[in-house]
Amino acid sequence: MKEPISSISTPSGQRILIRAGAIMDGCAHAHIPGCLLVRCSKRPGGIELIVEAVAAHIEPGSDMHIVDMPGDLLMPALVNAHCHLDLTSVGPQPRPSQFHDWLATVRRLRPQEPAQIRASVQQGIELSLAGGVVAVGDIAGSTRSGPSLVPWRTLRDSPLEGVSFLEFFSIGKGSQQRLDGLERVLEEAGCDRSMLGLQPHAPYSVNLAGYARAIELARRYKLPLATHLAESIEERSFIVRGTGPQRVLLQTLGLWDYQELTHIGLGKHPIVHLSGALAQARWLIAHANDCPDEALDPLAETGARVVYCPRAHDYFGFERTLGAHRYRDMLEWGICVCLGTDSIVNLPPESARAPGGRISVFDEARVLYRRDRTDPTLLVRMMTTNGAEALGLERSRYTFAPGCAIAGVVAVRTESDNPIRSAFEGDSPPRLVLGPSVRDASSASSALNSLGRGDPEADSGSTYSAF
Ligand SMILES: [Zn+2]
Repeated sequence: MKEPISSISTPSGQRILIRAGAIMDGCAHAHIPGCLLVRCSKRPGGIELIVEAVAAHIEPGSDMHIVDMPGDLLMPALVNAHCHLDLTSVGPQPRPSQFHDWLATVRRLRPQEPAQIRASVQQGIELSLAGGVVAVGDIAGSTRSGPSLVPWRTLRDSPLEGVSFLEFFSIGKGSQQRLDGLERVLEEAGCDRSMLGLQPHAPYSVNLAGYARAIELARRYKLPLATHLAESIEERSFIVRGTGPQRVLLQTLGLWDYQELTHIGLGKHPIVHLSGALAQARWLIAHANDCPDEALDPLAETGARVVYCPRAHDYFGFERTLGAHRYRDMLEWGICVCLGTDSIVNLPPESARAPGGRISVFDEARVLYRRDRTDPTLLVRMMTTNGAEALGLERSRYTFAPGCAIAGVVAVRTESDNPIRSAFEGDSPPRLVLGPSVRDASSASSALNSLGRGDPEADSGSTYSAF
């Protein structure tokens, strides 16, 4: 577990009382207005934030720093369960006419050299923190020379929690050599593989033998598993009938092998096609945009977690080809659904622009609130505890339950007497007010320090007007 703050001038035992316009998490009723009392406890290497109380009113004590934020909604720090931080340098791109054209664009623009990859992931980490995100399910994309551990190492050196899923391709000609190469890269990772995961890219780029090997390697090296699944209509054509643009792409690349037709083109929906692999591990499934009734059962029965990326769904026009995403049906079926952003390539241009640039699941939740009027508590759950569960993190770090050590606190400025509605309908950025620092990841001076009111100990009892 990473420290939420690795250095702060706040002495051990410091208590901070934040009086906000509203406070909510994904588990309990919101307080409007609300008070959050947090204690900072020193631990080796940093300071831990422990929730002491959450209530409509908390009587101020003489030992408390009081922070008044009457115009803000407070939430736990956010989890982005599916992103591609190594594509941050590519930046937002115009929407393609075809999904496979977009795949070709990504292949062409993806950074290839370690220094470029590191810089791109670092930029993505900063944009994530700028959007209140402190944990990610990041996909470490495969370069032309094979899987790369650079995104994983960059993520491990950052203040973020989560998993870097090492992505690989394995279909058609040369697939066996690619799997052998993947195993060598996993060996290269060394003994401490914390925060490392494994990601067969998708059923149209990894055959069933590749999924079986991924499961075997994940067991051997104790790695969590993720995959893209049921994302597009082109994927369905390929898996159900063995035809369409994905097959043409493999033929163009000289990879197509007719042997693949022993398991592809058998009339099975992509989720049913993978159900045997899904039954052997707890998978994190990116997308599941294409989800007829027959596909809900395998997802629910195998305990798969689904990451929904609403803005990517809109960007590709999947509603037109596949219908509305069934996230609410999935939740009703007991499937853990969380939120992701996918890559910055499919986000709006302002995501990469300063000031205000960010990669945040809060902007994904806003899409669902505005379009579907989804319950805000459910939305907060999808971008906190459900994301944490999907990534194997401690759910308690993403709630405001008393006694819990938390990963951070996010605030969103509101403008009306209905602060929750205002936060979700407005455009104010989610700001990390307690948690890892964007500016100095190594010493991680916290956003709280940026209040700039001097030594908190000397200032004990003072009232801060705003973060
Ligand atoms: Zn993705």
